[in-house]
Amino acid sequence: MNLLDTPATEAEREAQIARMCTLRNVPTDIVEHLRQTEGRTADHIARAVDWLVSTSKFFPTPAELVQALEKTRPRTSFASKDLQPTKAPKTVHIPSPFGGPGITVTITKDWYDDCTACEDTGWAGYWCGPKESEQYSWLTVRRCGNTREHAEHEYVTKCPCGPTNATIQRRRGAA
Ligand SMILES: [Zn+2]
Ligand SMILES: [Zn+2]
Repeated sequence: MNLLDTPATEAEREAQIARMCTLRNVPTDIVEHLRQTEGRTADHIARAVDWLVSTSKFFPTPAELVQALEKTRPRTSFASKDLQPTKAPKTVHIPSPFGGPGITVTITKDWYDDCTACEDTGWAGYWCGPKESEQYSWLTVRRCGNTREHAEHEYVTKCPCGPTNATIQRRRGAA
């Protein structure tokens, strides 16, 4: 096991969850939140918390925390499984930023997303609003299910690719 894959200690998990205490509606206990982060690396939890702190007003429910963890799942731990040989080796020239000759590399393996909407996380983020968000410009604009007039917001939804996404299915099988 790689050192980076070591699960976070309870103190580390607590410290990450405590970062969300700046959000509204802090719950009286975080037992369930702690339980949901068990077995995750400190780095992974930190990324999920970063995302939650920057996108939500309210302290997440345990389910929302799990969604954030899914969304920010580290890709590197799947790299050996998900990297697939390219159809034909590709040669890529990388120019030197300092005006030198640069380097030429031959790529024989490449990363493929089976689904570009969720990048194979199973969760896709959207922006519900009249136009693209300036703050979250990477989100696709799509109306949520709420038909009443409401303020624009970000939302995460289970990507419909799940049952047909080979990468997600392979991960489930491995879990
Ligand atoms: Zn998808
Ligand atoms: Zn909406």
